[in-house]
Amino acid sequence: MALIVQKYGGTSVGSVERIQAVAERVKRWHDQGNQVVVVVSAMSGETDRLVGLAKQIQERPEPRELDVLLSTGEQVTIALLSMALAARGCPARSYTGAQVHILTDSVHNKARIRDIDAARVGADLKAGRVVVVAGFQGVDESGDITTLGRGGSDTSAVAIAAALKADECQIYTDVDGVYTTDPRVEPKARKLDRITFEEMLEMASLGSKVLQIRSVEFAGKYQVPLRVLSSFGEGEGTLITFEEDEVEDAKIAGIAFSRDEAKLTILGVPDRPGVAHEILGAIAAANIEVDMIIQNVAAEEATTDFTFTVQRGDYARALEILQARADALGARQVLGDEQIVKISLVGVGMRSHAGIASRMFETLAHEGINIRMISTSEIKISVVVDERYLELGVRALHGAFGLDQNGEV
Ligand code: ASP
Ligand code: MG
Repeated sequence: MALIVQKYGGTSVGSVERIQAVAERVKRWHDQGNQVVVVVSAMSGETDRLVGLAKQIQERPEPRELDVLLSTGEQVTIALLSMALAARGCPARSYTGAQVHILTDSVHNKARIRDIDAARVGADLKAGRVVVVAGFQGVDESGDITTLGRGGSDTSAVAIAAALKADECQIYTDVDGVYTTDPRVEPKARKLDRITFEEMLEMASLGSKVLQIRSVEFAGKYQVPLRVLSSFGEGEGTLITFEEDEVEDAKIAGIAFSRDEAKLTILGVPDRPGVAHEILGAIAAANIEVDMIIQNVAAEEATTDFTFTVQRGDYARALEILQARADALGARQVLGDEQIVKISLVGVGMRSHAGIASRMFETLAHEGINIRMISTSEIKISVVVDERYLELGVRALHGAFGLDQNGEV
């Protein structure tokens, strides 16, 4: 007998028929003698619909009120799923986040979970009931409803699994696992049976959308065994493991990419202490997150060029800020480009294999793809290239590193 937390995303509970199918699956696990907690998202499209309603009234609704509204999506699915379970003779109880004391901070619309009182859930499990909890929501110290940011139900599930010390947290979704890259870009992408936690964390932060990044961070912090699998088929999915020696001996686990990128360059700034701070300080003060940063070696005239990337949604504002400061900084010119993407190779195997970077650059060169920026860490290499090369670049790298189905290098 095991304690399992299962999370079903929006598509998996997108209609009454699908909720019935989820109930069948949950009942099967329960009938096998497992204790089961189910965390659900809102029915697909529902959260967007609610956001749309709010925007018809106010372009920027009060975050507190938005949370009251958005949390209703998940409340619908917990009730429907509990009914579907009861209709099958499977005892179940639904709870909102507040009812099981998912305590968060008070940052409405992107709250972080602080604590969960597992007692109530535990009592139900002992009594043989399935517990159905609303994902994506919590409650702050003053009793106000909070939500965890889009995609937050993943994090709810992992947090509940951590609090209950569950044997496994299963994330059911519309794909059957974590792939070497997005199959919509490279149809030869292959499902991974296992991926290390570190690799998953990089993949999620570099653009893979399978899991909300916070949920992966949470799983790491509390060592929660996570599995991603399909709610539409059978199969073992992908296990996110903490044991590095359990994964296949590949150099590269996968290729992540992000279209949500833009870059800014400030040319000819004086090469003296404080310049980087003056440039990036202004950007940070506007709450804009900076990703890659490159500063050129100063040439003889003692000026340097400075390039960095931001999310595309922040591009216009970042450009404005730089232009406004260009004179004060003594800069020659400010340039920008929002037609860029980031492609990243991820793999713990990089630690022990030399030559990954050079093969990456060679592969891109062979396709005539110009690399605009490069950044590396212990287990990843990222390049920025022009947006029109995204598909070509991902496919070429996927082949070159033997990630294609049945591929070998
Ligand atoms: N319903 C929320 C959303 O659409 C949370 C989730 O599905 O994880 O973002
Ligand atoms: Mg989701």
